Amino acid sequence: MVHPYFELTDVDRRFFEERLDPRLPARILDAHRHVQLPEHLDESRAPFKRGAFPEEITGPESVAQARLGYEIMFPGREVEMLAFGSPATNCDCAANNAYVSQALAGGRGPQGGGQRQTATTGGRECDALAQVPALQNDDDSSAGLALSRPEWSAERLREELRRPAIIGIKPYERLIAGFEGGDVSVFGFVPHEHLELLDELGAWLTLHLPRAQRLADRANIDDILELRARYPNVVLVIAHLGRSYAGRYAREGFPPLADDPGILFDNSAVLNPAVHALALDRFGPERIMWASDQPVFYMRGRRRWEGDRYINLTSGDYSWNTDREPPDIEAAYTLSLYEAMAACLDTILALGFGDAEIEAVFHGNARRLVDDVLARKESW
Ligand SMILES: [Zn+2]
Repeated sequence: MVHPYFELTDVDRRFFEERLDPRLPARILDAHRHVQLPEHLDESRAPFKRGAFPEEITGPESVAQARLGYEIMFPGREVEMLAFGSPATNCDCAANNAYVSQALAGGRGPQGGGQRQTATTGGRECDALAQVPALQNDDDSSAGLALSRPEWSAERLREELRRPAIIGIKPYERLIAGFEGGDVSVFGFVPHEHLELLDELGAWLTLHLPRAQRLADRANIDDILELRARYPNVVLVIAHLGRSYAGRYAREGFPPLADDPGILFDNSAVLNPAVHALALDRFGPERIMWASDQPVFYMRGRRRWEGDRYINLTSGDYSWNTDREPPDIEAAYTLSLYEAMAACLDTILALGFGDAEIEAVFHGNARRLVDDVLARKESW
């Protein structure tokens, strides 16, 4: 079968065989990835655009395509996922959430097991299961998070959390109604009312940090510490190592978060080996979960860093792609997801950790936490 967003090349196969295959554990859990169908986007409304690089790379990726991607990229591996919608501002979040739930519930939950579920949202109907006829997989142990609209009441949010396989939320600043950019507080898009509910349920929160200065902004650190102090039962995962793609954010932002073992991280979209090293050293491998942020990293290429900037070096035909390398070098680019994984694996080993820590980062940490929340979910 052919994947719509990438084709595995001989360069990729060699990279996998040499750098990844000897080290990756048999089971992998991707703790942060996006899934969506085109009909979850309302094309009549223009989405807010930040001008960030991912916007041109792919369109929506379905759960079936996600599974196909894992199968092609990781032969011989069993890959589970913690998946959620893509937060375009014109996304029908409830429809996207219903789809994630349907596609990942498998045989679990009252609405799983092949029954059809129709979510009606804002006058639009999304017959989610009709789109995924081949997804009845009773062995599947993947789970999902719900996109959340900040204006939803706690009761409205509770409905999303009660969907089968949904264990928490993935909020975004850009989902604030009328958002036009600029710095906002964490509590501006994850309202206290939502946090009280998550705390009551012991639910999962993967937090995409706001503010241009990311973890180097003391206000973000204070928000995280306040969230931990007031809502200790929330399973708090800071996405992208706090968006620390360049070194200074990690250098300045990691120390004040180091002492609380309840602050967890996914390392999606981080290719910088120095950032992986700081995270592994400051937080320990037990607080870090490997994640892909797919479908963005089907992009082919690698990164270099200049001060606080990262530069995507890629052979892709994107309008922003002006930092080109010679054709023979570009011809040797592999998938940037492979580069991100290799950076993580190499760093774990370079720091003197071994197979146990690799297993924990790539599977065990996330598996244990997801299972904890799934067990609690029985009473939601
Ligand atoms: Zn993401």
